[in-house]
Amino acid sequence: MPVATPQMYKKMLEKAKNNKFAFPAINVTGMESARAVLAGLAEKKSDGIIQISTGGGEYASGTTLKSMSLGAIAIAEYVHRLADSFNICVALHTDHCQPSKLEKFVKPLIVETARRREKGLGNLFNSHMFDGSELSLKENVKIAKELLLEMKDLEIILEMEAGVTGGEEDGHDTSGVSKDKLYTTAEDMLYVHESLRDISKDYLFAASFGNVHGVYKPGGVHLKPTILRDGQKAISDKFKGETAYLVFHGGSGSSLEEIHETLNYGVIKMNIDTDMQYAYTRPIVDHMFINYNGVLKIEGEVGNKKLYDPRSYGKLAENSMKERVKLACDDLKSSGQSII
Ligand SMILES: [Zn+2]
Repeated sequence: MPVATPQMYKKMLEKAKNNKFAFPAINVTGMESARAVLAGLAEKKSDGIIQISTGGGEYASGTTLKSMSLGAIAIAEYVHRLADSFNICVALHTDHCQPSKLEKFVKPLIVETARRREKGLGNLFNSHMFDGSELSLKENVKIAKELLLEMKDLEIILEMEAGVTGGEEDGHDTSGVSKDKLYTTAEDMLYVHESLRDISKDYLFAASFGNVHGVYKPGGVHLKPTILRDGQKAISDKFKGETAYLVFHGGSGSSLEEIHETLNYGVIKMNIDTDMQYAYTRPIVDHMFINYNGVLKIEGEVGNKKLYDPRSYGKLAENSMKERVKLACDDLKSSGQSII
């Protein structure tokens, strides 16, 4: 199936909300990791979301060009081509974009979609995240509204964040923020929904409930998923049963119990990056240590070409990540739920 059309994406989101499951949203940095996601989703008959961060985009453009938007476009076009051959539906999304990076990342990506539409082609990306969590909520929502207006015309969905996801990702470190910013409030969630719903009710909302990027040891972080429940209730009470599409950031390392609790409160997307990075690297570690003498040219020898061919360990890494994607589908109950 091709990458989800705007209509298919909407159908995916509605199905997840109605059936209380969430899509794994997996960060990729190139062709290998994108293939791992597609294959994992397909084996589980699960739809899902492939996402690219600013750092992932920059990496994908190479160490010479270092263009976050160009790298993201290149991965997206690759996924568009490859997704055709898989029997599930995948959406393309971009991850955290802070205000200072909008001009270098999200804006050129929106332009790229507009350009494609003029030529009669489909959208490049289904959704983009704006992370204005470093701003006051008022300022954050003001920019989110402007973006939502612009993106709505192009049938692109906006993800916004209120409160702060803790920890460190892609060099963006929020581990120093005060503890109470890690927990948004029902009032703030209501304010966001009130502000955005007149433009579009189809937006994704990363409300923080103590979640943190990067794996943390059990007990290191105190998740309060009931914040999401209370926020949704405030929205539903005021707007006759309406609720927001919620996003769980920093899903790596969370217990199954916590994950399942958030599904009951309307989480329909969970971002998983750290666990995927580890799954990818783990078999490479074995390969290098076990085959130490083969991957190196020691003392005038030539080593073993079969062992230092990047494909030999690349396939192991890809398969390991694919297995982690499959586990995510089961954890998030998206297995077998494809709209295809
Ligand atoms: Zn995040």
